[in-house]
Amino acid sequence: MDKKKFDLIVIGSGPGGYVAAIRAAQHGLKTALIEAGELGGTCLNRGCIPSKALIANAEVLRKVREAASYGVSCQNVAFDYAAMKERKDGVVKNIRNGLEGLIKSNQITIFNGYGKFLSPREVKVTGQDNEVLEADKIIIATGSEPRPLPLIPFDHEVVHDSTSLLNLTKLPKRLFIVGGGVIGCEFACLHNAFDVEVTIFEVLPSILPMEGKNVSDLLARSFKKRGIKIETNAVIDRVDRSPNGISFHLADGRQLEADMALVSVGRKFNSENLGLEKIGLALAPNGSIPVNEHLETTVPGVYAIGDVTGKWVLAHVASHQGLIAADNAAGIKNVMHENAVPSVIFTDPEIGTIGLTLERAIQQGYDATIGKFPFQALGKAQATIQTEGFAQIVVDKPTGQILGAQVVGYGASTLIAEMAIAISNELTVQSIGDTIHAHPTIAEAWMEAAFIASDMPLHLPPRPKK
Ligand code: FAD
Repeated sequence: MDKKKFDLIVIGSGPGGYVAAIRAAQHGLKTALIEAGELGGTCLNRGCIPSKALIANAEVLRKVREAASYGVSCQNVAFDYAAMKERKDGVVKNIRNGLEGLIKSNQITIFNGYGKFLSPREVKVTGQDNEVLEADKIIIATGSEPRPLPLIPFDHEVVHDSTSLLNLTKLPKRLFIVGGGVIGCEFACLHNAFDVEVTIFEVLPSILPMEGKNVSDLLARSFKKRGIKIETNAVIDRVDRSPNGISFHLADGRQLEADMALVSVGRKFNSENLGLEKIGLALAPNGSIPVNEHLETTVPGVYAIGDVTGKWVLAHVASHQGLIAADNAAGIKNVMHENAVPSVIFTDPEIGTIGLTLERAIQQGYDATIGKFPFQALGKAQATIQTEGFAQIVVDKPTGQILGAQVVGYGASTLIAEMAIAISNELTVQSIGDTIHAHPTIAEAWMEAAFIASDMPLHLPPRPKK
């Protein structure tokens, strides 16, 4: 078989791979992009976009149901989940078509098939296209997939992963969610909006433990108010199929039943069957591919980006790593900085976080303090009935440097961008207080939190003197 020669081969076309391919092509590299499934990877086809399309449907339903609070009357409110799913599929298809055009417009050659290393410079494609490709530089961007739980194996009818749950056309009456992490909480909120009885099982003492106590507590309270049940410190001993679905036997002796279960206990990295042993690339114990700050693996010229590197399971991190790896592959030195990675959880209320929580800042030895401002005290929040939530800034007291920020509430997904700019540019809390924020906006919460962190609160009474 004749080898096809390129300057760069990218394996996987998720938000990591396709972005890397575009940046490499912009640098003048002749680039091949190999994809075994659908262009756009997990994010576009079974992750960020479809879940957010359904969440948008849920938001409309919630708003309509709350319309009376705004003096708007809506009677006989109903929804059609099958139609919502169809809208979601249409959004995904539309973006995928656009993505294919974008990739091709950058003169990138797409190969449809499974890529496997033959040597550190050769990849064999098997599938719709069958070729051997050769390049000096190769980027692995193969992503991840739902991690199975041996106690509750997926059958995609009663026990679902996030992919099969997104493809339902009819909702269950009762849903168990195993795992109170980001995906578990987003799905809990989504299904609760559609009147599904949701119970989250989390083995740890709280849901979203990584987001810090303030955030985790507020979300748990909000979920409970909405009727979402949360079983923390939950140990599931046995799982049976019951005539109506599934039954969980808990270590404390209780037996609980639901029609369906979602198992969302993390992701498994797509690093197997890539022929990595042929190129001498050893995996980390958790199956991820170790990389240095240039995103290069232990094999010179072979880079890895995105979920498969095991550091962050976020689309925007995969894309950012794609830009950096492509720069380095083109001979332009670039480095990944990890202190300013925003993360958003699309629950209701939304959560946006970046950098260190107060707990982690103190653990790391900072003399840290916090400025926290409740949305309740904002004019815009009152005017729009979006009073649930807060914005808080974690600050290094001696220097005023912003170490982290967390925001829970309406618009958190957009609000966190201000703190991403602040942290990536090493701004101080004073610079946020000195910035004129438009009124009335929810973004004023950052300015108010900055005033509080500097012990000069404006729209809250002064802290009592000790
Ligand atoms: P992927 O997107 O997984 O893409 C990898 C691609 O490589 C796939 O298309 C796969 O088919 C292909 N591939 C694998 N092996 C081979 C091979 N050997 N040859 C050829 N092709 C191969 N992140 C966010 O930032 N925001 C969100 O709101 C968000 N929501 C999510 C919701 C859900 C339900 C899920 C499951 C994930 C969500 N994520 C979200 C995470 C996000 O989807 C991932 O972090 C992101 O897709 C990772 O990008 P990637 O390029 O590393 O890999």
